[in-house]
Amino acid sequence: MPKKENVATATPAVADHLAATLRRLRAERGWSLDRAAGETGVSKAMLGQIERAESSPTVATLWRIASGFRTPLSAFIQPPVHHEKPAFRSAGALRDRPASDAMWVAPLFPYDAQLGFEMLELTLAPGYERHSEAHLAGVVEHVIVVRGAMEVLVDGCWHTLNEGEAVRFPADRPHGYRNLGSEPAVCHNLICYTGIAVPEAARPAADDLRGVIGKSVPGR
Ligand code: MN
Repeated sequence: MPKKENVATATPAVADHLAATLRRLRAERGWSLDRAAGETGVSKAMLGQIERAESSPTVATLWRIASGFRTPLSAFIQPPVHHEKPAFRSAGALRDRPASDAMWVAPLFPYDAQLGFEMLELTLAPGYERHSEAHLAGVVEHVIVVRGAMEVLVDGCWHTLNEGEAVRFPADRPHGYRNLGSEPAVCHNLICYTGIAVPEAARPAADDLRGVIGKSVPGR
């Protein structure tokens, strides 16, 4: 059985959207739970629990699932926002916990296949640390700190980024994020999938999924 996380789970609306997205992606690919487990490296039992909204995965598990399905992370959090029209977005309204980690994610601009990137606002709670496995080959990340200070693990070294500082790094190798301070750290995370074949089918279809993200702000 997967280890029970010792922190609160994601909000039910997010867990439901995640469950529905995973079920739909698996149906579109025609993958059995066995095949999905093989592609993602996430156990069949865990995938089944996520599909039934019985379990909140960690962000690391979410990324493993996204990479296995060759899908951007934001597909599991919110439907895409099309770029043909102006889109005004509010991180304050979008911020929520998509996973059981002490990290809040606001999908400012979810993945758009034609533009090839997603832009997230991340809030790392004090003490939060996450090691990320390699994303798909060619993925490049940008981290721009907008409040507080944090560290980014690049090429095996932790680098401190203060407010207004930024880093771009190849994310198709192990990397990490942490906040050793006593205040939340907020950054923008621009993830580029340029040149990577992300299936169009990864796009959520229904507009009625919009607004599933509730408002939930970490202690501030
Ligand atoms: Mn990453």
